[in-house]
Amino acid sequence: MTDSDTNGGDTERERVSVPDEVELPRLLDFYELQTEDQTRIHEFYDNLRDGQLTTTQCRDCEEIHFPPRIVCPECTSDDLEYVDLPHEGELYTFSEVRGGLPMGLSEHDVPYVVGVVDLGPVRLSGRVDDAAYSDLEIGDPVSLKIVEIDGPTDEERVFYRFEPQNGDSR
Ligand SMILES: [Zn+2]
Repeated sequence: MTDSDTNGGDTERERVSVPDEVELPRLLDFYELQTEDQTRIHEFYDNLRDGQLTTTQCRDCEEIHFPPRIVCPECTSDDLEYVDLPHEGELYTFSEVRGGLPMGLSEHDVPYVVGVVDLGPVRLSGRVDDAAYSDLEIGDPVSLKIVEIDGPTDEERVFYRFEPQNGDSR
């Protein structure tokens, strides 16, 4: 039976519902999509998912980049290879985030620490977990930690953070 009865305003209407959970719009998700068809540095994420932090090194001029590149910013060669980075380094500088969080981070996350970590070949910024700002000092040893990102895509995604080396307590 087709429900096409148009009896002058007395029509039965289809009932629809609002989703239980409103998901973060894809455009406001600040983590990059990580697969081969979405980014040309997918190998960085594949390696990270396998537990290894890597970056690109130029085969022509030997420059090591971070973040990973598809073309060398030093000599414009595209002959690059992925090399392993150390998972331990020291805090080069750090700060504390107290507010103004991007969408997708919940308020219970603040305050948290972000820092620049010197791994030797490169310096990179990242979040420092399991540490209060007041507990940290420049030069503190930190280790890499890999986290899985929850939503808003179904794709399995990972990212890196750091944690103090001697604060293994929590
Ligand atoms: Zn180069």
